Amino acid sequence: MIKTLGYAAYKAKEALAPFTFERRDPRDHDVVIDIQYCGICHSDVHQAREEWGGSLFPMVPGHEIAGIVTRVGPAVTKYKVGDRVGVGCFVDSCRECDYCKQGLEQFCTQGMTGTYNAMERDGKTLSQGGYSTTIVVDENYVLRIPDTLPLDAAAPLLCAGITLYSPLAHWKAGPGKKVAIIGLGGLGHMGVKLAHAMGADVTVLSQSLRKEADGRRLGADHFYATSDEATFTKLAGTFDLIINTVSAPIDWNAYLGLLKVDGALVVVGVPEEQVPVGAFSLIMGRRSLAGSLIGGIQETQEMLDFCAKHNIISDIETIAINQVNEAYDRVVASDVRYRFVIDMASLKTAEAGF
Ligand code: NAP
Ligand code: ZN
Ligand code: ZN
Repeated sequence: MIKTLGYAAYKAKEALAPFTFERRDPRDHDVVIDIQYCGICHSDVHQAREEWGGSLFPMVPGHEIAGIVTRVGPAVTKYKVGDRVGVGCFVDSCRECDYCKQGLEQFCTQGMTGTYNAMERDGKTLSQGGYSTTIVVDENYVLRIPDTLPLDAAAPLLCAGITLYSPLAHWKAGPGKKVAIIGLGGLGHMGVKLAHAMGADVTVLSQSLRKEADGRRLGADHFYATSDEATFTKLAGTFDLIINTVSAPIDWNAYLGLLKVDGALVVVGVPEEQVPVGAFSLIMGRRSLAGSLIGGIQETQEMLDFCAKHNIISDIETIAINQVNEAYDRVVASDVRYRFVIDMASLKTAEAGF
């Protein structure tokens, strides 16, 4: 077994603290990864604080993992020692259902194996995520990080990047399409960069105009404050696609009114509350309300290669592991520009507190 240092939530709503555990020795198809950086996704906060229910503790969060391969199992063909790799939101799936075969592992009928807060497929090992020194993952669930992308700023692509790339690609964002992103946070800022690179006309719908200069620098053509009611009159019937990244309740009917005929409002943010929608908001304009969940392995690799081609990385603020609890509070307060990334070298210092 491989001794691993990490930070875990021992209980819901408790501060994360040092945690020592073991990773399995590599099986035939496993890759052992020395984790160098891990992004902090708002989903980490939701799960560590048990806002979605059913959290499994102790929990080492983290599913925006970037690192270097240090060992491979005897049958591994895709990776070798020294390769720059990433791991996203899941580390396994059944591999047999129609969705797994189509590369839509995130919709595996038996359930994907989450990178953390899940049971591994042996039914008894708790999966543990990327706020740790090492992870062992089957080569088929590992991504290659292109050489031109720095590992720290590429880490958030593994969740925030793919979560926006997938719906943008599915709903065909591109030249001639008007795309709006609600919420300029970790997911939202990646959405702006990706939609802009795809050639779409991009609008940010943010709570205020505080982040306007950033939004425009990231690639937005337009920027509106949703606290201003005039925004909703002015933009009525404008967009082909709106992606909502907000993790709080919003006025769904008001946003549906911003869609063109046949437009789609896609949910990726996860508020605790249900989504209330009036029938007229949908039937007036044949509008769709849809959802999207991360992306499959093949599409995640496609996204990473797209980012390398267009020079897209995340805007990050790098922190040491002992700043993680403060970072969680700042994520909740929308006070991050635009993703915290933990430098895992900090786990091996005295300040980490082991
Ligand atoms: P984040 O960095 O906190 O960004 C969320 C943004 O939403 C904020 O920056 C803020 O943008 C806006 N916002 C926050 N509170 C708001 C409020 N009360 N009303 C209106 N807008 C508000 O979070 P994230 O990491 O991007 O994650 C966003 C959500 O997506 C989370 O719920 C997360 O669990 C979920 N998620 C889903 C998937 C998926 O596959 N579907 C994957 C990853 C994450 P402004 O300041 O611009 O208003
Ligand atoms: Zn995430
Ligand atoms: Zn499956």
